[in-house]
Amino acid sequence: MPRRFFCNYFSAAAIAFCLVLTSTSYAQNATGPQPAPLPPPVPAPVDQPYPGTISLSVDLTNVNGRVLNVRETIPIKSGEIILLYPEWLPGTHSPSNPVLNLAGLVIMANGKRIPWVRDRVNMWAFHVDVPKGTSAIELAFQYLAPVKPQQGRISTEIADLTWNSVLLYPAGYFARRIQFSPELKLPDGWKFATALDVKSQKGDVVQFKDVPLNTLIDSPLYAGINYKRVDISTGPDNPVYLDLFADKPEQLEITPEELQYHKNLVIQAQKLFNSHHYDHYDFLFSLSDTVGGKGLEHHQSSEDGTRANYFTDWAAGIPGRALLPHEYVHSWNGKFRRPADLWTPNFNVPMQNDLLWVYEGLTDYYGNVLAARSGMRTLEQARDVIAQIAASFEISPGRTWRSLVDTTNQPIISSHGAAPENWATWQRSYDYYPESDLIWLEADTKIRELSNGQKSLDDFAKLFFGIDNGSYMTVTYTFEDLVKALNTVQPYDWAEFFRTRVYQVEPQVPENGISGGGYRLVYNDIEPDWMKHMDKSRPTSFATSLGFSVRGGGEDSGDGDQPGSVTEVRWDGPAFKAGMTPEMRLQGVNDQAFSVANLREAIVAAERTTAAIKLLLKRDKEFITLTVDYHDGLRYPHLERVESTPDRLDAILAPVK
Ligand SMILES: [Zn+2]
Repeated sequence: MPRRFFCNYFSAAAIAFCLVLTSTSYAQNATGPQPAPLPPPVPAPVDQPYPGTISLSVDLTNVNGRVLNVRETIPIKSGEIILLYPEWLPGTHSPSNPVLNLAGLVIMANGKRIPWVRDRVNMWAFHVDVPKGTSAIELAFQYLAPVKPQQGRISTEIADLTWNSVLLYPAGYFARRIQFSPELKLPDGWKFATALDVKSQKGDVVQFKDVPLNTLIDSPLYAGINYKRVDISTGPDNPVYLDLFADKPEQLEITPEELQYHKNLVIQAQKLFNSHHYDHYDFLFSLSDTVGGKGLEHHQSSEDGTRANYFTDWAAGIPGRALLPHEYVHSWNGKFRRPADLWTPNFNVPMQNDLLWVYEGLTDYYGNVLAARSGMRTLEQARDVIAQIAASFEISPGRTWRSLVDTTNQPIISSHGAAPENWATWQRSYDYYPESDLIWLEADTKIRELSNGQKSLDDFAKLFFGIDNGSYMTVTYTFEDLVKALNTVQPYDWAEFFRTRVYQVEPQVPENGISGGGYRLVYNDIEPDWMKHMDKSRPTSFATSLGFSVRGGGEDSGDGDQPGSVTEVRWDGPAFKAGMTPEMRLQGVNDQAFSVANLREAIVAAERTTAAIKLLLKRDKEFITLTVDYHDGLRYPHLERVESTPDRLDAILAPVK
């Protein structure tokens, strides 16, 4: 609870108490009790070995209760030790590990319980005064996973075990210098998959080989009842697997075409990077309607999660089809090569995100390219994705006040308790993903243009990420390293290119990659085929027409518990100007009950008249009628070929022979 709120909320009787609370420097002047002296500060990590190996035992058997029980033995010398719960998680780029979910912490030394005190400044740090003659302390605690369906990653059938949720580690050491010996107790009959190496297994208890803390946290584990491992390797020198966990066994069935797309992904990635940086790579992949979706990169694995119908209704998943390509690319871009200020010595040192437009943005670009090259998306679908991205920025005025690089702070800003933005088109959001797609497309077409088709961003991929084949020792880079490598591929003023597009406020949407690719962005009334098959749980977008998205109202959507719920209203768009806000509920369109079909009909009909579209909305208990003066049709974005210009975009999206 924010302190100010607390103090404003309570009556005048509490004012004196509040004055004490809100005065951070009251010690000098107050006449009341003096505060206890501050405990010693959390020491900075040093590149030195932590003496001894920490035993970690995680009990996963209470998945029904969504509670994981943890025991940890930490070898120790007497005196004060500070234990850290990981705060900054790689891949999330933010202090996002919820320490709130750690509960029941009890620490024992020589068979006796000893107290712990949380740091008053750093909520992820715990001070422990260890009695003389103690050689190890024993910790017991729980990790309380979210219980609401689709919010957490643990269900009665599937568990995503992130080691960062279930361990404390000593402050003052580089993570790679702290050795762990992890052990896991599985629920009866469950299978598991992880990049970790197994030392032994007795029944449901698995002992893993000792591993440094950074590798342990980078090697999560999936477990579950319904499991299938699918080999998509290109050969014995490049072992890659899909480790599938599903709600039901039939959701694990893959058609030969689907299998081939995933094999193509590995083949095409190898052709793109001409290297790999793992011993074996495991896509830990949940197909589930009970655990939430996920995409989180690791060096030798990724945590992936989609709806249960990923294989059984292939056509429904086009928008999210780049998930696996994106996470796989991260093994090269993000894990093997990482921006220097995103590399941190342990998990409680803040990260700096200013190069996320490379770490995430270039990964997103290569991910979308590989989704097309592997056949996961058709050429037309791949072009539609680019059209969608460009269109989304044409209607987003946030670019007029906020630079792209400032959006790389979004993970940190959002982790401070903020709900998703109500006005994302104005506030901007995680724009360093999609906007960077357009910027890297421009860079790719520019290299192809300047080199007369001899060079491309594929050459940059090999030069920048293809070094030290087989090694997974992270190599960091700076903005200057990036510019230098691009200049090696194709001389150009790349520093200026990125300065204007990334670091300055630039209202112009970066669409030169579309024209450089031989296409133009157009709008028409033709709904893309893949949109018709889209997962019914997704909101239907009228963002480029009326300027909002709405959930439910489809023929067989079931409507969930929020029919007609307005999920997004475009800033300064037609609906915004009429007074619509997010979280309203759309009830009626031109005096008929709302459905997606009749809203589409109303938009098409309004093209031929001057009459406004009438919308009936509900906000809490209040009914509101809005009239939207809009006559420009459905405006679905597409890319249209500009004949007589080089067709570089299709060349980029075509599989490499
Ligand atoms: Zn990513």
